[in-house]
Amino acid sequence: MRRPIVIAGGGIGGLSAALALARVGLRSIVLERRAEPAEAGAGIQLTPNAGKALAWLGISAAAVDAVSVHPERLDIRSDRSGRRLATMLLGASAAERFGAPYRTLHRADLQQLLLAAVRRIPDIDLRLGTELAAVQREADGASLATVSGGRPREIRTDILVAADGVRSTARQAIPGARDAVFTGRVAWRAVVPIAAAPAPSDSIGIWLGGSGHIVHYPVRGGRELNIVAIVREPPEARPADATNFLSHFSSWSPSAKAILAPPSAWTRSPIMTLDPNGAWTGGPVALLGDAAHTVPPYLAQGAAFAMEDAVTLATSLARRPDDLSAALEDYRTARFHRTRRLSAAATQAGRIYHMGRATSWTRNLALTIAGPLLLHRYDWIYRWQPPG
Ligand SMILES: Cc1cc2nc3c(=O)[nH]c(=O)nc-3n(C[C@H](O)[C@H](O)[C@H](O)COP(=O)(O)OP(=O)(O)OC[C@H]3O[C@@H](n4cnc5c(N)ncnc54)[C@H](O)[C@@H]3O)c2cc1C
Repeated sequence: MRRPIVIAGGGIGGLSAALALARVGLRSIVLERRAEPAEAGAGIQLTPNAGKALAWLGISAAAVDAVSVHPERLDIRSDRSGRRLATMLLGASAAERFGAPYRTLHRADLQQLLLAAVRRIPDIDLRLGTELAAVQREADGASLATVSGGRPREIRTDILVAADGVRSTARQAIPGARDAVFTGRVAWRAVVPIAAAPAPSDSIGIWLGGSGHIVHYPVRGGRELNIVAIVREPPEARPADATNFLSHFSSWSPSAKAILAPPSAWTRSPIMTLDPNGAWTGGPVALLGDAAHTVPPYLAQGAAFAMEDAVTLATSLARRPDDLSAALEDYRTARFHRTRRLSAAATQAGRIYHMGRATSWTRNLALTIAGPLLLHRYDWIYRWQPPG
């Protein structure tokens, strides 16, 4: 490879890709259109597979732990009664079972860890405030039109890694790539001081109901609580939504409603899905993270899978430095089945979470019987190992 690999997007996927490429000795340029890549004011669950990917990328467990919580358990509750249906033990037992802890943290803290690591590596050229505007495939790579501070520029590269998210620009350069579609649901998110919220600082809570579901967990060392409420709404925001969306929960138990009461400001994100069966690679372009496979967030895996993609892409390129298109095909093959399985599992989880009154009793019974063994259903996700 003669020229640095260009990565479009400096989100979790793009920064992870840059770190992974550096680890196998490959130079990269990261184009990020935002002047300062600031993650939304929200938390993120970093499941054990994500922790193992981060370690492979060179981010020490101690550094991640310094900004994370290791929740002791995950409690699943029913909407109206507030009854606890099942508890999955996390904490030390999950860390032992999966080889890394189950963590929760603030997205901004994760972004800072990745950015700091990127900035320490001279082989990574991070270009903030630079947008990828168009991609032209060529016989020996790609020509990229970029815009920075209003000034157009051209960059030529052997490989473009498109980590530019669910509305990827670079995806247009791949024949057979699909576009993301709206799932019919919207996520409302907020972070509040833990003292203001009637929720535990040592565990994850999930509340299930026909009109939506609520997830909450501690971030910032347990000082703040991240709250996510998923409801069925149109994709576009309307001015009154922020107050109206609480009406979806009017028949829920007082304990559930009390968790939604403290936030004074919410952010709103339509939940999208992108069928992973479309093409992910075309000539010198490879999709990564949400650009390749946006998965509804019901199993908390989008960022984890973007990191796994990054590790796999870098190792594929390192194995076949003289045949880049074969290396990109190896990457897609290595990731495809796992990603397709995740996409199906997340879609099914959404159906189970949002069962209506007529059928939810069967779900509640099944959850109560399965109890702590529920976690074992996700062995195939959490036991993922990066290459040695
Ligand atoms: C409600 C919700 C909760 C979630 N919870 C979890 C969770 O707990 N755990 C988990 O693992 N995942 C979770 N996810 C999923 C996770 O947030 C995403 O999968 C992940 O952030 C995708 O990262 P990415 O880098 O692929 O894309 P993005 O984060 O979208 O990053 C893309 C980057 O590319 C930049 N960009 C876009 N276009 C261009 C361009 N043309 N030129 C230059 N730059 C460009 C953008 O500015 C952005 O910085 C959740 C998602 C949602 C919606």
